[in-house]
Amino acid sequence: MSDAPTAFAEAVHEVAYAYFAVPFFRRHMDDAGCAPTDLRRPSDLERIPPTVKAQYRSNFPHGVLAAGHGLDDPMLRRLQSSGTEGDRLLSVTYVFTLAERMATSLQMNPRYRFLSEASAIKTCRFAAPNCSDVECANPNSTMQDRTLPDGTLVLPVYHDLLTTPDAMLEQAAAEMSEYDPNLFYVDPVHMTWLAAHLARRGVQRWPGKRQAAVILSYTMPTHGTRRRIETFFGPGVPVAGALAMSEFGYLGMECQEGTLHLNTTDFYLEFVRDGQPGGPGELAELYVTTLRERVSPKIRYRTGDFYRRHHTPCRCGSAHPAVTYEGRRKNLLTAGGGRRVTPREVDDVIGVRSWIDLYQLSQLGADRFVLRFVGERSPDAREEESLRGQLADLLASSNVRCVHASYIASERGGKFSACKGPDEAAT
Ligand SMILES: [Zn+2]
Repeated sequence: MSDAPTAFAEAVHEVAYAYFAVPFFRRHMDDAGCAPTDLRRPSDLERIPPTVKAQYRSNFPHGVLAAGHGLDDPMLRRLQSSGTEGDRLLSVTYVFTLAERMATSLQMNPRYRFLSEASAIKTCRFAAPNCSDVECANPNSTMQDRTLPDGTLVLPVYHDLLTTPDAMLEQAAAEMSEYDPNLFYVDPVHMTWLAAHLARRGVQRWPGKRQAAVILSYTMPTHGTRRRIETFFGPGVPVAGALAMSEFGYLGMECQEGTLHLNTTDFYLEFVRDGQPGGPGELAELYVTTLRERVSPKIRYRTGDFYRRHHTPCRCGSAHPAVTYEGRRKNLLTAGGGRRVTPREVDDVIGVRSWIDLYQLSQLGADRFVLRFVGERSPDAREEESLRGQLADLLASSNVRCVHASYIASERGGKFSACKGPDEAAT
């Protein structure tokens, strides 16, 4: 929780700015019978109802842009959500605001500071095409077609990752070598699938020579995908997860201890559990309020992402709060007895198993679960029964099936979730 007095004062300043400059937010506060002058202490912020994606989408652009700002400003950058939760949301902010947020996150991990000092960050991106604003799945697209205005190369892949033909994976690997980036910004699922493909044809290790780093984003890294990617890039290349959202850009990063820290320099953060502030260790949703956002401030924005704050500060000494990412709301499962089980808890049980490259655990009904996994070899009966038993304990269910699959479908937005809650699994 951002509870320092200066952080709260900055949040109030942001609320006041939004109230006087942003039409949607003015109505939002007026409807709640709340004015900026009512905000005297942090708990007063709870008088402002949280805001949600649909409100920003339906009021875009004029309702959510601050007075005096238009979409024709050349310093604006547009960020589009992947559409994992229905319609896509377009967010706009200044290029330099995004750069500041990125710099704050990269500073959290000393192994990434070389990027701040490099003459240029040369980024290679591998993720669902929807996340990249380019057409990737066309087999005839060239590297030039997939190079963004900032020079980022987006590697080719199918929208439904596991249907990507081998020839396209070969092309992605070849382009990766040719482009020789110093930053790989990848979805861990996509990178794992590519590394597994390369391992099958004898390429166990990224052959790059220059100093480089890997950032895992878009979906939650699992123990398995993280291990696979670390092995592929080798010990000289740091691999860390970053939290980034199209609504905000960078929100946080893992430090050298492997702890995720959230950026409280550029954002005011709240962890909310059932409408109340959540305590350390409690499963709580992250609400984000931007700070110093001139174009389109967001106030108490419900991210739909769940975290647990750590009880103790991280050994790295960072002042940014240490948290564990637990998963998205729609990916939470309900165990027998009603307890919510997060994708993080599921992944802690699954861990690293040599026979699982990727998996998806779906809740099919109140007490029915199926784990589908893809991997090079089939588990023996003992291995499979052991995992099934551990999942049955976690989920308090006697109805857990394990299926060695050759294919698992991506979501509509192109991402691939390790867990699917009952509503999601039914569609
Ligand atoms: Zn740390």
